[in-house]
Amino acid sequence: MQPDSIAPTAGVHWIVRMNWKNRSIFFVLLALTLASHMAGRQPGAIAWLLLVLQFVVYPQVLYLLTRRLPQQRQRQVEVRNMLLDGLGFGLWCSFLGLPLWITFTMYIGVSMNLLVFESFRGWVQATLCMALGIAVMHGLRPTPWQADTSLLTTGLSMFTLGLYILAFAYDAYLRATSLHRHRAQLRQQLEANHRLQAQLTELALRDPLTGLYNRRHLDETMQLQLQRCAMMGSGAAVLLLDIDHFKQINDRHGHAVGDQLLQTLAQQLLRNCRAGDTACRYGGDEFLLLLTEVTPDAALARAQQLRQDFAVQQLRVEDQSLSTTLSCGLALFPAHGTEPARLIQRADQALYQAKLHGRNAVVVFEHHLETCTDGAK
Ligand code: GH3
Ligand code: MG
Repeated sequence: MQPDSIAPTAGVHWIVRMNWKNRSIFFVLLALTLASHMAGRQPGAIAWLLLVLQFVVYPQVLYLLTRRLPQQRQRQVEVRNMLLDGLGFGLWCSFLGLPLWITFTMYIGVSMNLLVFESFRGWVQATLCMALGIAVMHGLRPTPWQADTSLLTTGLSMFTLGLYILAFAYDAYLRATSLHRHRAQLRQQLEANHRLQAQLTELALRDPLTGLYNRRHLDETMQLQLQRCAMMGSGAAVLLLDIDHFKQINDRHGHAVGDQLLQTLAQQLLRNCRAGDTACRYGGDEFLLLLTEVTPDAALARAQQLRQDFAVQQLRVEDQSLSTTLSCGLALFPAHGTEPARLIQRADQALYQAKLHGRNAVVVFEHHLETCTDGAK
């Protein structure tokens, strides 16, 4: 009765292996019990032979026959074998005149076995099979009821039944601890899977170079953020930022330096973010900053600050410092649009104006002609 035996080994179903072990031990104990009862009664050589066949040889033959079957059938056949045990017990009990302790021991044993595997249905079947055995033997060779057993037989019955119950309880303990262990492992695996899934989801929503959110994240969240602003009656702003003459930086200093510049701007945007804001790499050298709960003036001021900070920033490249500028288009929610796509499109138009006006500028969509700021030439 080992939980490890649950694993199918060598093509033998664990129930078959377990019952074989149980029968090998407890059938011998039952044989001894019955022998102690039969000893004074001179039942005849055939009865002794049958006793040996039933309780010593039969379990081994049953195991050899059952283990040969395909695994899927073994469980089913093993349940049938347990019912056969019940039938055999009924025959023996009836043959001996239904001695109380022996009958009780056998009945509880076979009932417990079938109840474990087949629930109450199994218990009813065990009862019926044993009753059938009793009835058949009574029909063939009626024996008057002889309830009493000797002290030795009673003691052996108690010992056999007690040991069987204790073995069951120990098996239940082993199974419970094994189940607990497996559950804990499963829970750990599940948590690891959840962590991995969260990491994968996060990775899918991040730009690998800058660590900022990507466009997919923006598509998924911008609508909600705008709805929240609408509910609270507050404004929002979309800032579309694009590095000026970025291609030249790539061409002159190499792609790696270009990457470094993109990362620098990303860090600057992150530093500028407040709770509720979203910074994302929109593509290439274009970044989008969504500011929530912000007034138009505050949004413009923050855009200007970003532009200025970036312009004064120095990037060290091979002992030289490199500086560049950015342009920014700004669209306001809800004044310039209430839908994400519309707002982004308008911010893009404003950005285009900023580039047209000479770059290093912030242009607000609505007033793009007049509001080219100090950087615009
Ligand atoms: P403009 O002032 O009009 O914006 O000029 P620009 O040279 O910046 O032109 P544009 O914005 O169209 O150029 C984007 C360039 O960014 C083109 C592409 O080679 C470069 N780029 C895109 N993704 C990456 C990247 O991940 N790393 C680097 N180093 N360069 C990139
Ligand atoms: Mg550019």
